[in-house]
Amino acid sequence: MDGDAVAIQDFFVRMLRINAVNPRMGGPGEKERADFLESFMKDNGLSVTRLDVEDSGTPGGVRPNLSAKLEGKDARHALWYISHMDTVPEGSRDLWKTDPFEPTIKGGKIFARGAEDNGQSLVASLFALLTLKKLDVPLPYDVGVWFVADEEFASAYGIKQLLRRRLFKKSDLIVVPDSGSPRGADIEIAEKSLLWMKVTTKGKQVHASLPAKGLNAHRVGMRLATELDETLNAKYRKRNKLFDYPVSSFEPTMKDANVGNVNTIPGIDVFYFDCRVLPAYSLDDVVMDVKKIIKQFERKYHTTIKFEEIGKESAGPSTAEDSDVAILLGRAVSEISGVEPRFVGIGGQTVGNLFRREGIPTVVWSTVDDVPHEPNEYSKIANLINDTKVFAAAPLLGSA
Ligand SMILES: [Zn+2]
Repeated sequence: MDGDAVAIQDFFVRMLRINAVNPRMGGPGEKERADFLESFMKDNGLSVTRLDVEDSGTPGGVRPNLSAKLEGKDARHALWYISHMDTVPEGSRDLWKTDPFEPTIKGGKIFARGAEDNGQSLVASLFALLTLKKLDVPLPYDVGVWFVADEEFASAYGIKQLLRRRLFKKSDLIVVPDSGSPRGADIEIAEKSLLWMKVTTKGKQVHASLPAKGLNAHRVGMRLATELDETLNAKYRKRNKLFDYPVSSFEPTMKDANVGNVNTIPGIDVFYFDCRVLPAYSLDDVVMDVKKIIKQFERKYHTTIKFEEIGKESAGPSTAEDSDVAILLGRAVSEISGVEPRFVGIGGQTVGNLFRREGIPTVVWSTVDDVPHEPNEYSKIANLINDTKVFAAAPLLGSA
């Protein structure tokens, strides 16, 4: 394996040179990088499935998704490593010490846009597959990779297309190596549901010296925000120790400016909540509670209050700690990385949730310093090689 480390690193550098910034973010998209990957995979004896999704506004007119797999004894299910080809833009060039599209190796790290997110895992999973092919050992089940488009925007031309085409089975084992921890101990198996709400209270704008003539929308808004804060935080109290913040959170966050001067009573007031809800709860129940409280306020203040969901992503069921995919990856991590795996949940959301929502057990794992989207993004070469070994070992360390 270590003899191949140089080859892996060289390939990684060549791939990172190809700009694959998401076209919705002003970049050329994934096509050239996909062409490069496809010919490399074919040259190395893999049979490649390519799914080009039409996207007329982009260079090349399509958004590519690539896959290859090795066949195992039990064809009823497959272990899939799923990573994305697109990246975010480099951001301000002034903040980069090196050219973001000319990978630079320094101190055991490769600096380039997309090195960590998600290039490292893409290359690691590809070389894990090639390693398994070369070893020519019997696999317990099919093992494959998908390299998808559009993860950085909305996955509409990537994973969502694959799921719509039913390319995965409920019995498949999904690994999404697109987030992780510096020692590789954290295996993410759960995510919270996300709800962003915008609440607009209406009042009647008047001079501040004559409050009785109007209705202070800001006062109504403050009282309503306080009521929502207290009621929701008091009601949704279940704990889940997988999460660093082990309960659901309901946080009043942003406020729109109302009036431009101190001596006017605002006739309109807008506040926002960021809610992150444990998968044990349904977001619909939360929304129902919010609407009930809003109704009470409308009656009490004889006014109208507008409620909008400006972001809503329900979490799928958590992946069980004793599911096949969690066990198998945990075993590989402890064997290869030499760390005690720890199952965790996160308050944010990854594309892993799209699979969980389909009822497919999914783990999110990689060994990274967590510098995605930053200037001077990098991948540690030691992590690249370690994760290649983990991905290759996972299907070989006992059956799922
Ligand atoms: Zn990513």
